Amino acid sequence: MRLIVATQNQKKLREIRELLAGFPLQVISLKEWEGKVEEVVEDGKNFWENAVKKTMAVAYQTPEWVLADDSGLEVDALNGAPGIFSARFAGVGAGLKPAPTDEENNQKLLQLLKGVPLEKRTARFRCSVAIAHGKRLLGVVEGVCEGTITLASGGDYGFGYDPLFIPAGYKQTFAELGPEVKHKISHRWQALAKAKDFISEYVEKSPGRSSEAG
Ligand code: IMP
Repeated sequence: MRLIVATQNQKKLREIRELLAGFPLQVISLKEWEGKVEEVVEDGKNFWENAVKKTMAVAYQTPEWVLADDSGLEVDALNGAPGIFSARFAGVGAGLKPAPTDEENNQKLLQLLKGVPLEKRTARFRCSVAIAHGKRLLGVVEGVCEGTITLASGGDYGFGYDPLFIPAGYKQTFAELGPEVKHKISHRWQALAKAKDFISEYVEKSPGRSSEAG
């Protein structure tokens, strides 16, 4: 059986591949997939809705397993921003191209938090993963990782806001800690662990249906 991961973000895809290593489904990227890859307008009200949109844009074309994640950073001192606008935080005209770089987004965040002391820089990464099979949405799961926004950027691992995010219980950013730590505690790890359980349970309960779909 195959699992199509519906993301255009190559760094995210790499993490998802690493987190699904050993899971008994063949992970297929959109580049490897034979179907029509459509532009998805991420205009959902929350991560959940955007994850569903991304998943179903692919799932309606195939009975195979499809999964997509929508994720982002919520900063308490900014009333939850950048939230669903995390990828395009520093961009002009949300949703329009070209998307800002990770560096531009990070600089904007540091600028907005200038003068805010460390204890008030609490934040969390949130990740929604939608799961479809047989052209139907079967479920949405979520992972949350609490932490703090640093005063200055640090580290080279990962992507996005990783150089600014210190997970709770640690002293270094995700970008300094690297994948060994990030993949044991991250929002994406939590959501994908739930997604794996969900898929395994579904396959166990309905073996006939899942093999029909390839
Ligand atoms: P999406 O591709 O629309 O879900 O946007 C996700 C955006 O949220 C990314 O471009 C990053 O800016 C941010 N983000 C999500 N997950 C992570 C992560 O694990 N580390 C750092 N930034 C993340």
